[in-house]
Amino acid sequence: MHSDSDSVIRAENRAQGLRIKRNNLIAASLSGLALVFISVKFVPPSRAGFLFGMLAGFVYANGFEYCLHRFLLHCGHGIFSKQHMVHHANLKSPDAARYVNFSSNPWGVVALFIANAIPFFILEWIFKNGWVAGAFLSFALYYMAFEEIHWRSHMGGWLPEWLAPAARHHLRHHADDTGYFNVFLPMFDWIVSQVSSSSPQTRVRRELR
Ligand SMILES: [Zn+2]
Ligand SMILES: [Zn+2]
Repeated sequence: MHSDSDSVIRAENRAQGLRIKRNNLIAASLSGLALVFISVKFVPPSRAGFLFGMLAGFVYANGFEYCLHRFLLHCGHGIFSKQHMVHHANLKSPDAARYVNFSSNPWGVVALFIANAIPFFILEWIFKNGWVAGAFLSFALYYMAFEEIHWRSHMGGWLPEWLAPAARHHLRHHADDTGYFNVFLPMFDWIVSQVSSSSPQTRVRRELR
C-alpha cells in the first residue's frame, strides 16, 4: 500500500518535472534566439567572429556553471542555496523530480539569460565587437544540454555512451561531496585543480603521499 502511493507520487512528480523541463527549454530557446537577434542587429558578426563568439560563450557557460554551483548554490545560506540543498537531500525520495530542474519557473530561466547577457551587451556597446551573437547562441545551447543531461543523470533516460563519465562526475558530486562543481563537462573543475592548492586532486595527491 505504502509503496503503491509512493509510486503514484513519483509518477506525478516526474510528469510535473518533465513539464517544467519543457517550459524551461522553450524559455531558453526563445531567450537565446531573442539575444542572438538583438546582438546581430546591433553589430552584424563576421563568420570568424561568430565562431570565436561560440567558443567564448561555451567557455563562459562552463565557468559560470562552476561559479554558480560552487559559490552560490553551495554557500550554505540564501534561498538559492537552500533550494539546491533540497535537490541534494531528495534524490531518493518520491519528490526528487520536482527539484532536478534549474528553475521551477520558466521566468527564472529568462532572468538567468538576461543577467548573463548584460555584460556581453556592454562589451558589444563599448567595443562594437561582432562576436557576441555567437556567445549567446552557445550559452543557450550549453544551458539546454545542461538541463537535459542533469535530468537524465538523475531521473534516467538515454544518454550517449560518451556522456556516461559526465553523468558519473555529477553523481559523485552528490554521493561524496567531491569538491567538483561542473555538472557534465569538468573543464573548470580541471582548470581550478591546476591552480588551486586546496582542490580535490591536490588533496588526493597529498593523502597518497
Ligand atoms: Zn550541488
Ligand atoms: Zn544534481
